[in-house]
Amino acid sequence: MLLNLFSIPQAHNFIGGVWLEADAEINVTNPSTKDKITSIARGTAKDIDAAVHAAQTALSGEWGRKTALERGRILLKIGEAVLSHVDSLAKIEAQDVGKPLSQARADALALARYMEFYGGAADKITGETIPYLDGYTVYTLREPHGVTGHIVPWNYPMQIVGRSVGAALAMGNTCVLKPAEDACLTALAFAEIAQKAGLPAGVLNVVTGLGSEAGAALSSHTGIRHISFTGSVRTGQLIQAAAAKNVIPVTLELGGKSPQLVFDDADLDRALPFLVNAGIQNAGQTCSASSRILVQRGVYNTVCERMGNAYSSLEVGNAMDDLAVGPLISARQKEIVTGFLERGSDLKIIGKGKIITQADGFYVQPTLFADVPADHPLALEEIFGPIQVIIPFDTEAEALKIANQTDYGLVASIWTADGGRQMRLAKKLRSGQVFINNYGAGGGVELPFGGVGKSGHGREKGFEALYGFSSLKTVAAWHG
Ligand code: NAD
Repeated sequence: MLLNLFSIPQAHNFIGGVWLEADAEINVTNPSTKDKITSIARGTAKDIDAAVHAAQTALSGEWGRKTALERGRILLKIGEAVLSHVDSLAKIEAQDVGKPLSQARADALALARYMEFYGGAADKITGETIPYLDGYTVYTLREPHGVTGHIVPWNYPMQIVGRSVGAALAMGNTCVLKPAEDACLTALAFAEIAQKAGLPAGVLNVVTGLGSEAGAALSSHTGIRHISFTGSVRTGQLIQAAAAKNVIPVTLELGGKSPQLVFDDADLDRALPFLVNAGIQNAGQTCSASSRILVQRGVYNTVCERMGNAYSSLEVGNAMDDLAVGPLISARQKEIVTGFLERGSDLKIIGKGKIITQADGFYVQPTLFADVPADHPLALEEIFGPIQVIIPFDTEAEALKIANQTDYGLVASIWTADGGRQMRLAKKLRSGQVFINNYGAGGGVELPFGGVGKSGHGREKGFEALYGFSSLKTVAAWHG
């Protein structure tokens, strides 16, 4: 029923521009109700091989001959087509991954925006001329890697497909995409939309299936020239090892334990919505979720009270009812998050949301802990659920020490009116992005994004991603 919104057959992969039936399938359930909604293909190494060959053929055909301007125009058309399907994509996503409808809609808009951004950027990437010895002219060319592999997680399927496939296509690569087994439907719909909007057959191939099967086959395939991976640290390590074997570049976007530092002079009216939303958006299943709130003693009680009140008014329910918080993605994720709540049983709880839906889905109550020791597991480990901890501090030096003490470094924010402190901390925080008096800048398609430490390496989004999806060639001509 759902997939009738697009003409996607059940349990098929999208390879070489056509739907190919798979040998086996995986049931897809709605996390809000646990009802089966459809099934997807359980792709194998054979399907990955077919997809890589289709992508190689497309590269040596029409797509490989397109100019940057032509590629950009196709991406712009795909962006327009996505815009005309935003509501349908949002409904599919809400039912497939349990994302509240308006958040799913925002993801669909972001997917369109990535196509627009990378469509416009495709012909703006240039090489350089380099002053060299007498008699030489030296210049650089940016060339596509070839066939790129894209392994995507379940938490922001449309946004992550958009940022990774959009940049790869803009630079002239062809793609094999392996979405997460819990979140394939919008990726399949996107492939169909893109082809109808003018993307030649074989340029974007989608093989669904398990990470240990289709994912492992993609990351180790010798025809893949670059891998872009977003997901857990554990899988990132496996992918980097597979890429090392084939000596290919890899971009890893892994997890986070992102802090927000709130100083006594912060504008709390502005800060409060960001402090809470950065923890509960997408039920906390966000790599850049802010799961640690560090608060200076002078405003500590006020922040605790106001965040606690905000948590008490949070409503949790069916994604189609579009409440503040939906279900978690799966029974497994619910078990992980419940385990963290048990590990926090020695801590003080100062706010809890309410599950108001009657449906039997993977729901947990959003929970806010206060007075949490900075070395408690809940303050150090990524949770990936609607849980935040508040940690008190006295001085700027202490806040910096706590902020930098996890293995991760994805996002951090500083709430203070003191300009000197803003600049000092922005330099010293160990993090791929730092926000001053905001958090996340609304997603920012244009803003380079990625981590340090166990949050990964390489940058996606913005112009920076285009460099990652291309290889630099130096040409030195001697002419006397
Ligand atoms: P995951 O690592 O289990 O899965 C991610 C993808 O990798 C899925 O498509 C999965 O099928 C595939 N995969 C799993 N095992 C594989 C293997 N052996 N070989 C190849 N592919 C394999 O992660 P998840 O549970 O889907 O996502 C949650 C994690 O992702 C969290 O840790 C979160 O922080 C991280 N994440 C990071 C970002 C970011 O941009 N930094 C964004 C979203 C999620």
